[in-house]
Amino acid sequence: MISNELLPINVAGEWRLGGGDVYESLYPATGEPIARLKAASLADVEEAIERAHHAFKTSGWAQKLPHERASVLHRVAALIREQAEDLAQKQRLDNGKPINETRALVASAAGTFQFFAAALETLEDTITPSRGPFVTMSVHEPMGLVAAITPWNSPIASEAQKLAPALAAGNAVVVKPAEVTPLMALELARICEEAGVPLGLVSVLPGKGSVIGDAITKHPLVKRVSFTGGTTTGKHIAHIAADKMMPVSLELGGKSPTMVLEDADLDHAVAGVLYGIFSSSGESCIAGSRLFVARGIYDEFVTRLAEAAKLLRVGDPASERTQMGPLITAKHRESIERYVALGVSEGAHIRTGGVRPHGEGRDNGYFYTPTILEGLTNSARTTQEEIFGPVLVAMPFDSEEKLIEEANDSVYALAAGVWSRDFKRAWRLGRAVQAGTVWVNTYKQFSVSTPFGGWRDSGLGREKGREGIFQYMEQKSMYWGTNEQPLPWSK
Ligand code: NDP
Repeated sequence: MISNELLPINVAGEWRLGGGDVYESLYPATGEPIARLKAASLADVEEAIERAHHAFKTSGWAQKLPHERASVLHRVAALIREQAEDLAQKQRLDNGKPINETRALVASAAGTFQFFAAALETLEDTITPSRGPFVTMSVHEPMGLVAAITPWNSPIASEAQKLAPALAAGNAVVVKPAEVTPLMALELARICEEAGVPLGLVSVLPGKGSVIGDAITKHPLVKRVSFTGGTTTGKHIAHIAADKMMPVSLELGGKSPTMVLEDADLDHAVAGVLYGIFSSSGESCIAGSRLFVARGIYDEFVTRLAEAAKLLRVGDPASERTQMGPLITAKHRESIERYVALGVSEGAHIRTGGVRPHGEGRDNGYFYTPTILEGLTNSARTTQEEIFGPVLVAMPFDSEEKLIEEANDSVYALAAGVWSRDFKRAWRLGRAVQAGTVWVNTYKQFSVSTPFGGWRDSGLGREKGREGIFQYMEQKSMYWGTNEQPLPWSK
C-alpha cells in the first residue's frame, strides 16, 4: 500500500477528498490494493471547471511571454527527472507494467515537457503574403479550459502528452485519468504546482468515465477535449463535441498489420514482431496484432517466433528481467480469454500460449501467456476486433497486391510494420498501407517530435510534433491596414 490514508484529488488546485465513492487501485500483479481514494463527484466537476476557468482568466499564465511559460515547463521536466524512480515505481504499482517499461514512460513524460517547452519558446506565428494594402498575419490564442481524458495503459506518458502542449499553449487543464490508474495524473498535478504552474490551472478528477468524463466533455466551459481510449467512447465524445461545435482529438484503438517479406532480416523481424505485440502485455493501441508473413518463409518464421514467445519472461513487474507483466484487471483478462475461445471457435489453432501461467508468484495476479493463433483468415472476428492483449494472429500471404488489400481491410488504421531488406519494396508497401504511423524494419519506436494519430476508427487529429501546441489554440488572422486613403466606400 502506498499509503493507508485516502488520497486527495485535485479540484482546481485544492487537494481534498473527492465527493464520490471510495475505491481502491489494485496492483495487477497481486490483486492487492495499493491506494484508496474518494472519486470525484459531479459537484467536484462543476467546481473544478468554474474555478479553472476563473484561474485561466486571472492567473496571468496565458499572458506570460512564451519563454516565461517555457521556463516553468522546463522545471516540470526537471522535477519529473529528479523524482523519476519514485514515479516509475508508483506507475508500476498502479498499472502493473514491468519496471523497465515504467522507467521509460517516466523518461518519456519528462522529454515531452522539455520538448513542448522548447517548441513553445521557438514557435512562430506567420506573416502571410499580402494581397492588398494591408499586412496579414496568422496568430494563435489559447482556448481557455481544455480537458484531457486518458486510458490506463501508459498513464504518465499519455497524460504528459496532453498536459504539456495544453499548458504550453496557455490553457487551464482538467485531467480525467482512467478510474483504475489515477496515481500518475495526481503526481503530475503535484509536480506542476511545485514547478510554478499557477494554482487552479491543473485539476485531476478520477472517477467513472461514463459519469465524470461525460460531465466534463459536456460542460460548456470546456473548449476542447483531448481523448485517448477506445473507439466506442471516442465516437460518443465526438457526438457530444459536434453538438457543442467543440474541437476534439481522438487517439483510439488499433489492429495493426505487421508484414514480413521473404527478404527480411529474420533475426530483426522476430525480435521486432515479438516486441510489437507482446511488450506492454499487448495492452497497446499500436500493438502489431495482425501478422502477415510471406508464404515461402511462413513456417520457419512462425516456428522461430513461437519458440521465442515461449521464452519470454512473464512475471514480477518489479524485476528488471521481466518482459511481460500482468494484464490490467481480472475482467480484462477474462475478455482476452473470451477472444482466444472465439478464435478457436472460428478455426484457430493455438500455436503457443492461450493459458494463465502459474507459480513463481503469479497465481493471484492477472497474468496471461504470450499467445499466437494460426489458421484464421483476415476477416475472422478475432483478426478484426481489437483484443488489447498478448494475442497475435499469424497469417501467410502470397502476393504483394493481396497483402496490401488485407492489411488495409480493417476499420482501424493506426500503425503498421514492414520488414524487408529491399528498400524499394518497403517504400512501396509503406506508402500503400493506410496507417497513421508506419515502421520499417523497426516497431513501436517513438519520438515526441513526430506527430502521432490514426486514420478511420483509430482516431482524429494528431498529438506530438512541434505543431501539437496549435491543437490547443485557436487560430486568428489579423489584417493591418496600410493604406493612406480611406476605403473607397466613403467616396
Ligand atoms: P475507454 O475508452 O474505456 O476509456 C478511456 C478513458 O475514457 C478512461 O479515462 C475512461 O474512464 C474514460 N471514459 C469512459 N467512458 C467515457 C465517457 N462516456 N465519456 C468520457 N470519458 C469516458 O478505453 P480503455 O480504458 O479501455 O482503454 C483502452 C483503449 O484505449 C483501447 O481501445 C486502446 O486502443 C485505446 N488506446 C489508444 C491509444 C492511442 O494513442 N491511439 C493509446 C492507448 C490506448 P474509466 O476509466 O472510468 O472507464
